[in-house]
Amino acid sequence: MIVVEDVSKHFGGFRAVDGATMQIAEGSITGLIGPNGAGKTTLFNVIAGVLKPTGGRVTMQGEDITGLPPHELFHKGLLRTFQIAHEFSSMSVRENLMMVPGGQSGEALWNTWFHRGRIAQEEAALLKKADEVLEFLTIDHLKDEKAGNLSGGQKKLLELGRTMMVDAKIVFLDEVGAGVNRTLLNTIGDAIIRLNKERGYTFVVIEHDMDFIGRLCDPVICMAEGKVLAEGTLDQIKANEQVIEAYLGT
Ligand code: ADP
Repeated sequence: MIVVEDVSKHFGGFRAVDGATMQIAEGSITGLIGPNGAGKTTLFNVIAGVLKPTGGRVTMQGEDITGLPPHELFHKGLLRTFQIAHEFSSMSVRENLMMVPGGQSGEALWNTWFHRGRIAQEEAALLKKADEVLEFLTIDHLKDEKAGNLSGGQKKLLELGRTMMVDAKIVFLDEVGAGVNRTLLNTIGDAIIRLNKERGYTFVVIEHDMDFIGRLCDPVICMAEGKVLAEGTLDQIKANEQVIEAYLGT
């Protein structure tokens, strides 16, 4: 689904990503691991259009998407989750979901004035979709809670929920498990697996928790110093000498 060819991203003279090449298979949950500073987040940001690469090429289903801005990638179904922005923290969980799809008629003054009926219809459809997402993620009891009051894990579920409001094909998740308790991490894992199996989402997941990676991800790709070191099952990766050396070196 995604082919990353010899991608690099330099900050000044520093090579955060240094000729990374990898393929993300459609329908996979691919894990991206590696020691701190390996370049994982930078590579995510290059693929998701947040950063322009210094060199290399990224294609999605054969189409060159190198350097496309995030909103264009969004319309192609490529999404990178972000923390709930500060300005949305005082809005409810449900409202946060309803904010996601762009291009509603309500945005244009013309439409607001002349097509009130259609806007009401669209809002009702959005509301229905948001409620379905909340139920799917088992957080319907939180629908009226302010997003800012959620725990770290609940926020991650909401971030995942936001991808379900549009027709996502591939979702990039950065450190889903950071600061999340085990029970909620399992709920997040279950949601990812169900979205993968039932809705055909492809996932790329950066995560330090190896139990989580082992349960969800095949293949696992290990990066170090801006390059791809190894790819395989988690067991193969764990047995790889270059990988062991890279982790010991940090
Ligand atoms: P990882 O996600 O694997 O921990 P990162 O992609 O966050 O690694 O970072 C890779 C390296 O690039 C780190 O040494 C980091 O300090 C550096 N880096 C990341 N972003 C910037 C930036 N905007 N400016 C300068 N250096 C950066």
